[in-house]
Amino acid sequence: MATSVLSPGLLPIHPQPQPDELLSGWIVAVARANWMKVHSLCNRLGGNQNTVWNRDVDRMAPPAVLAKLSKLTGVPEERIRACTLAHLAEQIDVDHHPNGNATWLLPLGVWHRKRLRHGVQFCPICLGMDERPYVRRSWRLAYYTECEHHKILLMDRCPSCGDAFNYFRGELGVRAKVEAERLNLCVKCGFDLWGSPMERFYWPDWQLTVATRTLHLMNNFGWATLENRTYEPAHELLLVIRQLIRVMSSGNRAGQLYDAVAGAMWPEGCDVLSERGRDYERRSVLERHRLFGMAVWLLMDWPVRFERAFRYSGIQRNSLTRDMKVIPTWYAEQCAKALDW
Ligand SMILES: [Zn+2]
Ligand SMILES: [Zn+2]
Repeated sequence: MATSVLSPGLLPIHPQPQPDELLSGWIVAVARANWMKVHSLCNRLGGNQNTVWNRDVDRMAPPAVLAKLSKLTGVPEERIRACTLAHLAEQIDVDHHPNGNATWLLPLGVWHRKRLRHGVQFCPICLGMDERPYVRRSWRLAYYTECEHHKILLMDRCPSCGDAFNYFRGELGVRAKVEAERLNLCVKCGFDLWGSPMERFYWPDWQLTVATRTLHLMNNFGWATLENRTYEPAHELLLVIRQLIRVMSSGNRAGQLYDAVAGAMWPEGCDVLSERGRDYERRSVLERHRLFGMAVWLLMDWPVRFERAFRYSGIQRNSLTRDMKVIPTWYAEQCAKALDW
């Protein structure tokens, strides 16, 4: 809901951040509500638009930009910071460095004002149904691959031209243009993303469907549940899921775990990985979705499935914990027994 207050220093219209709204998308919304070009607003935020668009502003969350936005909109600074990935990273306690790679956060590949990677996912139905279409913070989270509302796989590119979801570029290069296209239109080819083909993914059983969807829902709770177990902090569970994904997608012998799990889940045949050894965040939406669910599957009926898959795969025990900086006790204890299985 937008409010209008004429006070010194405040913009005339200041739309409030919507649930789970991403900072960069909200900056675009504030500019448009006030009939400003996005770059004019960025000039007021920090000298020039490079301050915002020549870096991943959602991950960096520059305090000076947040403070200025708060002054311009009247929205408290803490509320604005809650729109950033820096804040989300704290919720799930990931190893986060604003300028480097971050576990679970999709990279944008910022090069000047261009985005070389498809680092922002979207749900076409959400974009089509919103009164004011907006970008969700969760859409930058690598394991958030299915819309929690519409149960379809997210997309990370325009189905017509293949371009990334560059919601902020609608007016760039057009000096006189203030009202950019709505967020649901591809800025490169004009395709209405609302009309994208929608894809559902079906897990082999409802228990796994419920388990993965529950974890998607809990992306900023600070704790997580899987079956009847609770993990607090959620980071403990995510660390192990991450490790199992790393092992399954490994380019060496440890990667046999993928075949063992996939064979058990889809005995009639399953998809192979596009490339072994590639980072999780650089994989397609579909592969990220599948790998995350496979790791969750391994942790269900704990530890029976885990033990069986380990034995069947023939991988070495030390690969289960290799390269983990922190190993949750419950996982370490189970791996220590692996020789006895
Ligand atoms: Zn949706
Ligand atoms: Zn397009």
